Amino acid sequence: MQEKERQCNNGGSRGNVNNVSEAGNSETASFGKITVIGTGPGDTDHLSKKALEAIKDSQTVIGYSSYLKQIDGILSETQERLPFNMKDEIKRCEAAVKKSMEGRDVALVSGGDAGIYGMSGLLLEIIEKKSLLGKIPVDFIPGIPAFCAASCAVGAPIMNDFCVISLSNLLTPWEDIEKRLRAASQGDFVIILYNPKSMKRKNELTIAKDILLESLDKDRPVAIVKAVTRPDEEIVITTLKNMDNFDIVSMNTSIIIGSSNTYVKDFFMITKRGYGNKYNLDLA
Ligand code: SAH
Repeated sequence: MQEKERQCNNGGSRGNVNNVSEAGNSETASFGKITVIGTGPGDTDHLSKKALEAIKDSQTVIGYSSYLKQIDGILSETQERLPFNMKDEIKRCEAAVKKSMEGRDVALVSGGDAGIYGMSGLLLEIIEKKSLLGKIPVDFIPGIPAFCAASCAVGAPIMNDFCVISLSNLLTPWEDIEKRLRAASQGDFVIILYNPKSMKRKNELTIAKDILLESLDKDRPVAIVKAVTRPDEEIVITTLKNMDNFDIVSMNTSIIIGSSNTYVKDFFMITKRGYGNKYNLDLA
């Protein structure tokens, strides 16, 4: 069978393609565009200009109800809002596809960056399962990930190789999470923990701490950053041995565990990039 030719015809948006068949017929559907937008860590001042424009340009806005609340002030009265509950991610994507098939332009919003534990991948998987990949126009607009905002809140704790590990075993087996914690501590990464606690998962942070203590120093600096950029933001700087002792740890908390090059001074957490090994910083 002869391969179909794909061509992008809407100025860069992936997916709005004409499939030109062997006979040369062009079948163009009138789908609305789905734009997947990272809304950042919370405060709408942290939305990019492009994200703001894409949200304003959409006819239907779909997302987790509390994210929709966060951006409500930038929506107009005429924009349709479809709020969903926490674990309804599949329903959100199904709704986005349905609205697109009705010809409506959709903004599918997701906290932080939508491509980091967010809606982007699931949407593509669902569109692919429906054999609509390359037919529905889809675009992705980056958002500031929570770990970047959390890092800024305490100075410069990342600065070198790092990894993010989610402690949620809802979609990842706990054995895999343990494996990743051990591998990350062996690699001397700065380690960011997402999803450290929920209503149902209360002990995972202590188990993670014990695993990390198998090879890391108990006084390794740790920043606990709750609800960064939001009105209820709270920050604690502590050490690895104490990181599970704070009530501010919740579903909205990111935890940054320093590498062997991380230190704390005057509430700033700093990871040395290595300049001091190469240059004389006393002269600077
Ligand atoms: N897509 C998001 C991550 C979603 S996973 C991103 O790019 O960052 C959800 C986890 O992100 C939460 O459990 C928490 O660990 C972290 N998180 C999200 N918002 C946060 C905030 N405002 N402050 C601190 N951590 C946050």
